[in-house]
Amino acid sequence: MQGALAIQAIHSFGSPEQQARWLPGLVKGELVGCFALTEHGHGSDPGGMEARATRDGDYYILNGSKCWIGNASIADVKVVWAKDGDGRVGGFVVEKDAPGFRAQDIEGKFSLRMSRTSECWFEDCRIPAENRLPKASGLGAALSCLSYARTGIAWGVIGAAIDCYETALAYAKSREQFGRPIAGFQLVQQKLVWMAQEITKAQLLALRLTRLMEAGSARSAQISLAKRNNVWMALRCARKARDILGAAGITDRYSVIRHLMNLETVSTYEGTHDIHTLIVGRDITGIDAFAG
Ligand SMILES: Cc1cc2nc3c(=O)[nH]c(=O)nc-3n(C[C@H](O)[C@H](O)[C@H](O)COP(=O)(O)OP(=O)(O)OC[C@H]3O[C@@H](n4cnc5c(N)ncnc54)[C@H](O)[C@@H]3O)c2cc1C
Repeated sequence: MQGALAIQAIHSFGSPEQQARWLPGLVKGELVGCFALTEHGHGSDPGGMEARATRDGDYYILNGSKCWIGNASIADVKVVWAKDGDGRVGGFVVEKDAPGFRAQDIEGKFSLRMSRTSECWFEDCRIPAENRLPKASGLGAALSCLSYARTGIAWGVIGAAIDCYETALAYAKSREQFGRPIAGFQLVQQKLVWMAQEITKAQLLALRLTRLMEAGSARSAQISLAKRNNVWMALRCARKARDILGAAGITDRYSVIRHLMNLETVSTYEGTHDIHTLIVGRDITGIDAFAG
């Protein structure tokens, strides 16, 4: 959220003055950033957003709500996406204590429990007109930030998968049943081999995607393919590792169940698994299966 989303949005779409004002603090971690795109009624379909930013002299007046926003309740620099008077999506920086802004943390999460996730409301929230990101024109600007975040996710989940694999391998070698280590059973080896194989493939996919990103030639369907595959792979690894650990796998003595729960969020955010299926499907067939 801090790097690929809040910083990336200001870096890509902010004016030099905005960049000088917010980026140093965000990059050093002295300022907390957030990226508010999702709304209560619009998750997979952000283009339907209802948040509005109406120009009023030297100010914009924001009205609407956002939901599932990481760090919104504590963020110093909130990059908020809203439609302007022409119905065009723009990015607006809402600073801490802006009048008309309030947020409430979402309680009861079983996934990413250490991360603060909030819903928030803008009620005639007045921000200086100079806080609009001048180069962010249309929903594509917000979505381009997600491309960086999704690439980061394609790498990050490999780390979770490797930890699950290594934990399961060590456990399988030390845990004995029927007079021998469970690592010696073919069914257990099959799970470990699947993990090693899929982790290796996911690493190659992420590496290739990163090379394309560096060359500036990655297409959104390629990013979707990598996010979709690697999160799915990591979830399956976590599930298989939990299985190998038996009863111990449901406890917090091992990291596996934590990864399993956290990966459930990763499968949903930055575009759900099924939404990425539709993006890749549209790319392959040329037919849009999103609606109707
Ligand atoms: C912990 C956490 C942190 C988050 N952080 C942020 C954040 O910092 N900033 C932010 O803006 N958002 C954030 N999100 C929101 C996240 O991006 C959304 O949850 C996600 O885009 C899905 O939206 P939704 O939950 O409204 O699900 P919905 O869009 O309601 O989807 C529900 C189900 O319907 C399916 N579906 C939807 N449309 C279609 C279709 N056309 N065809 C087939 N199936 C479909 C989906 O795949 C899904 O299975 C976060 C979410 C979580 C859980």
